[in-house]
Amino acid sequence: MRPYSSLTMASYVICPTQIIVSHFGSLLVLMTGLSWGAVGWIILLYTIRGLATTSIYHRLLTHKSYKAPVLVLWVGSIVAAAAGQLGPSCWKAHHVNHHQHVDGELDPHSPHTPAQGIRGFLWAQGGWLLTSRLFPDKLPRDVESDVALKLIDRFHFIPLIALALLSYALGGAEYLGAFFLSTTLLFHTTQAVNSLSHIVGNQPFITDDQSRNNGFVAFLALGEGWHNLHHAFPLSSRHGITIRAGQVAYLPDATFSFIKLLESLGLASKLRVPTEADLLGRARNGNLQPSWLSVAAGTSANS
Ligand SMILES: [Zn+2]
Ligand SMILES: [Zn+2]
Repeated sequence: MRPYSSLTMASYVICPTQIIVSHFGSLLVLMTGLSWGAVGWIILLYTIRGLATTSIYHRLLTHKSYKAPVLVLWVGSIVAAAAGQLGPSCWKAHHVNHHQHVDGELDPHSPHTPAQGIRGFLWAQGGWLLTSRLFPDKLPRDVESDVALKLIDRFHFIPLIALALLSYALGGAEYLGAFFLSTTLLFHTTQAVNSLSHIVGNQPFITDDQSRNNGFVAFLALGEGWHNLHHAFPLSSRHGITIRAGQVAYLPDATFSFIKLLESLGLASKLRVPTEADLLGRARNGNLQPSWLSVAAGTSANS
């Protein structure tokens, strides 16, 4: 029996429901057309909610890859909930399960199990949310003990509905359609990290899973597609890192840039990033340059 009420389960069911509604709602733009203002609205909502999901839900709340004032965590979680992809407790529970059981039977959304090929892809791309995998066996204690986060989790659908109403108030059916389209695109981008970044891409680091660095997903998912680095170093606030010719190389990572912006504003601190020695130590195809010794001697990548 799951350690939460049937009312909580009912609130989680709203997530796939609102994603399905968003898919159909996107068709509104076929009737209204899209002005440049509405296109800007799509991009704005996509970027803000995307960054909240990646920098707050994922890198702060789940992996604690940097520190931030609790207000940043609460406000960021409300914005992330407005993406329509569940509240902080359920989101973290799924993601912790993913890391603990990655690409195994208990991974909630691996493209390699329980199905492979196109069926595995569709499962990881959102199909899993339509099954009992939607309900985690347990919820993270740290999130459940924070009253504000717990409230955001159980009422995760309120920020999404508020944003839909705001969109309609701003520009009628056209902006409402833009909101639905932005929500649908962002949903598939997040799911592409679960699917494509475990199927296509390179593996510069040694891990026990199928995680890949995928530049296409990294562009769409604001840096989250550098997923092989993430599974090799889950505590790193920076995901955009690879190995080229035996040397550490840094890649565009919009979420890390956003966290650095928060840091410059005094809203983030103690960013965790592996040293180049750590990175080279996990490099898959060694071929380390002679400079490895000097790097291993203490050069930090924490910049
Ligand atoms: Zn993964
Ligand atoms: Zn993660």
